[in-house]
Amino acid sequence: MTSFWNSSLWVMFAALLASCAGSGTGSGTRWSSGRDVWGHRPGPKGFTTVVIDAGHGGKDSGATSPCTGQREKDLTLDMAKRLQSELSGNFKTILMRDDDTFVDLDDRVSRANRLGEAVLVSVHFNSGPSRLRGPETYYWRVDSFGLATRLQRAMSATSPGESGNRGLVRRRLRLTRNPEIPCVLMEGGYLSNPEESRLIADPTYRQKLATSIASAIRTQATIGDAGTGPLPRPIYAPPSRPNDARE
Ligand SMILES: [Zn+2]
Repeated sequence: MTSFWNSSLWVMFAALLASCAGSGTGSGTRWSSGRDVWGHRPGPKGFTTVVIDAGHGGKDSGATSPCTGQREKDLTLDMAKRLQSELSGNFKTILMRDDDTFVDLDDRVSRANRLGEAVLVSVHFNSGPSRLRGPETYYWRVDSFGLATRLQRAMSATSPGESGNRGLVRRRLRLTRNPEIPCVLMEGGYLSNPEESRLIADPTYRQKLATSIASAIRTQATIGDAGTGPLPRPIYAPPSRPNDARE
């Protein structure tokens, strides 16, 4: 019962917001810069800032590879720095953390929400049954679909093998739903898969991944959503809360 009333209230609230927003967003066929609560618009083009979020940190180690012993929080920081150096010639880059500190997910969201012409890329590595292998990319907002598609394609082209992985996934997470700028969460591969975890332990492979991800971000900034297929449908859903899902 509670959830029924919650969802009914959200539908009413969403309808009210949509009717208020209507006059300001016009036809919605062009990229409009800046923040947007729902993200029901085409993906960004011409953005100038990339916020790079190294997942986990400090007391939160994330996943640990049973094979190499490497911790997700160290690998995500390494990847974030590689991405920053790949992108810094073309964009202003902001690292959500640049050392081994814990940053709460809601703090990450509020930091992102202080920025205008930016996109947020959250970097993670995955964990699951050992047979699963390959990259995955999560998005929620319509304006994040094109970038997510490009990132998934780029990582997939770099990854030498995939098995049972989910690929591109629309999922409401705190870092895919709550930021008011386009945002994606990428999983660079499974630390729980012995072969992939050994590959991820190799700095040359991580550099290859970073180069391909940076190239996908530059393409999105240059041509927007062109070539990424039809946009997904807008979904009105409440912000993601800590007990909705992990990550
Ligand atoms: Zn993670």
